[in-house]
Formats: sequence, C-alpha cells, structure tokens
Amino acid sequence: MKEPLAPPPWPASDVRIRRIGVSVTAPDGLPLVIVKVETTEPELFGVGCATFTQRPYPVVEAIEKYLAPFLEGRDPADIEDIYQAASVTSYWRGGPVLNYALAGVDLALWDIKGKLAGMPVYQLLGGRCRQAAPIYGHASGRDAAEVEDNARRFVDDGYRYVRCQVDVPGMSTYGAGERTQRAGQWDPGAYVRAVPRLFAHVRDALGEDIELLHDVHERLAPPDAVRLAKELEPFRLFFLEDPLPPEQLEHFRVLRSQTATPLAMGELITNRAEYLPLIRDRLIDFARMRVTAVGGLSVAWKIGALCDFFGVRTAWQCPGDVSPIGHAATLALDLATPNFGIQETQPFSDAARDVFPNGPTIHDGQLWPSEQPGLGIDFDPAAAEKFPPPAPLTNDAWTWARLRDGSVVKP
Ligand SMILES: [Mg+2]
Repeated sequence: MKEPLAPPPWPASDVRIRRIGVSVTAPDGLPLVIVKVETTEPELFGVGCATFTQRPYPVVEAIEKYLAPFLEGRDPADIEDIYQAASVTSYWRGGPVLNYALAGVDLALWDIKGKLAGMPVYQLLGGRCRQAAPIYGHASGRDAAEVEDNARRFVDDGYRYVRCQVDVPGMSTYGAGERTQRAGQWDPGAYVRAVPRLFAHVRDALGEDIELLHDVHERLAPPDAVRLAKELEPFRLFFLEDPLPPEQLEHFRVLRSQTATPLAMGELITNRAEYLPLIRDRLIDFARMRVTAVGGLSVAWKIGALCDFFGVRTAWQCPGDVSPIGHAATLALDLATPNFGIQETQPFSDAARDVFPNGPTIHDGQLWPSEQPGLGIDFDPAAAEKFPPPAPLTNDAWTWARLRDGSVVKP
C-alpha cells in the first residue's frame, strides 16, 4: 500500500484509500463529473459529484493530478482532516474548480462512512428532522397563461411550491425555456415590468395555498432589484432568488431594508468571505449555495448549522447540472437540517437512472431518500460510457446575453 504524503500523527485503520478515479458522463446532455473513491476493501467504495458543467475538465485535472496522489493511502474514515488538509494543499482556495474537486472526494468519503456504518448519511448527521424534502417545480411559459398551465401540472402532481418564469418578448430570458435562452438581447426594464404582471395572474389563478418562487438569476442593477422586490410584495412570494449578482452583495443591506419579499441568494457563491456576512447580518432568508460548489457535505453541514443560529433557512441549489449523486447528498442534509426551507431538484430521465441506479425518488411533491447505506445511490460506469459529454461550450449560450447597447449582462 502506498504511504500517504501528509498523514496525520494518529494511527490509521486497516482500510485505506486505494484509488481515486474520475468519469465524465452526460446522460441528459450536460457533462457530469463523477468521482469514485476505491478502498483496500474489495467491495468498499464511495461515489461523489464534482460536476462543474461549464468547465468539467479543470476539475478532472485537479482530482487526477493533485487530489488523488495527495490522498491515496489515507484512511477514508478521517473525512474532516482530509477536507482540511486537501483544501489548503493548493494554498490558494475557495474557488469553484478546487471546491468541486474537493466535494467529489468529500461526498465519496461520506458514502464510504455510511456503508461502513450500515446507515444512510442523514443518520450520521444526527438523524431525521423530516420524512422527505418538499421540492418546487419549474413552471415556465411564453406568457402568463402558459406558465399557469404548467404550474397547474405540478399542483395536480401534489407539489405545493412552484417557481414561475415567463418569457419577456424578444429577450434572452433566463429560465423561460430553451426558445429564449440562446444568445440575445436583455432589457432589465422590460423584465422588471413583466414579472409583477406574471405573478398577479398566477396568484389569482392558483389561489393562496400554493407557494410561488421566482429566480432573477442575478441580472438586475440594485435599484431595479429593489423596485421588483417591492412590487412583488402583494403576491406573497415564498422567495425571490438571486436578485443581485455576487459582485453586489453589499447592496443586500439596502434591499433587505426596503422590502418584505423573502430573499434567497447564493448559487454563484463559493467561499466563506461571501456567504458569512449574508448569514451573520441576516440579509437573506434562504441560503441558496450549491453543496458541491462550497466544497461538499462537510462544509455545507456547517453552513446549515450557521444558518440555523441566525434564523436563515436552507434552500440548496440543485438543478439538472448537479448529478443524481449530488441530489442524494443534498437530500441527506435536508433530512437532518431543522432549519430546512425548500429543495430544488428535477426528475431524472431513464438514461440518468440507468447511469445512477437506486437514488432518491419524487412523489407527492417531495424528494424521498433511498434507505440504502451511505448516499444510497449507485454509479454504473459501463452505462456512463454510453453518454459521452458534449464538446466544450455547447451549453454556454444562455450566458451570452447583452444589453441593448451591446454590453455584456452578468448571467
Ligand atoms: Mg437560480
């Protein structure tokens, strides 16, 4: 067995990390980066999600060239020490590429620990606070009537929470569907006028019992964000997501003081210097970071506990460019987090379920865990090979919108 490069002074168990491998697969067209940590026990391994859809190959390099040689030979039981040591061995830290790489290994180590314990990971985090995680549906449409129709489909399926996004005619509108997300023009004024009209319609049509959400996707200047949040107050949103880009976090102080609309923020945030003030100063209602983008379960668990102390709820970001392994890990947190708010997820295709058998399932508008030990989800490398990733930049066009004067919009 290889001796690890930087072992701790305490004795290791007989189980060691033998190999750390990485695969890139795209069963639903988006490249997913999957980590497998194999141990010296023949049948004992863990799987993790290191998916950075837009830039998968730098993450693969970070794992294969640096994390794997650094960690092979370590005792996989030392999750926290491995996280601490691996996160500073690059000296520079806190960015998305290295965080995703760390997360892939971290999730796999929690999977291994759960398998060794014979328990689902949520049991290792203190046990259940709820039986399943309520989720929200993504309803979009060309106009308010089409959004209403799509929202009703979720309500009929038992969902109590629906995110509503509508096309702004002629604009490259985030979340409104493929047809308008290609590179194009973006007019924040037209958008800020369109969204309250959408919610006036949807709230009236669906009644008071359905919780409504909306994602701005960071595309507003601070005064527009204030105006939108105030004009949405009569429609009682569950939350307004990412109203400002992460470059403008200080403006949350103004936004917070101006509106009663609940605020969710965080999917582009990767480090403590950014999320800590938002939580500590109670500038948001829902922390919306991605578990894998902040570095994995080990750090996300602490963020969730931090949020609890400051009256902030969790709403971990988890769309289709997180692998089903990432969804399973996020669900483990949801189940064990008292201050859980809501979970984003999506139904995975048959192809994705072939590559990732036995994961969580959706019914009654909630995400339910598999009760298998560890993360409770498998990875089939042979099935994965049938879905090679698309060429780089294939899925990036939705980030290429520009203002009327031709300048770039922060997506
Ligand atoms: Mg979002």
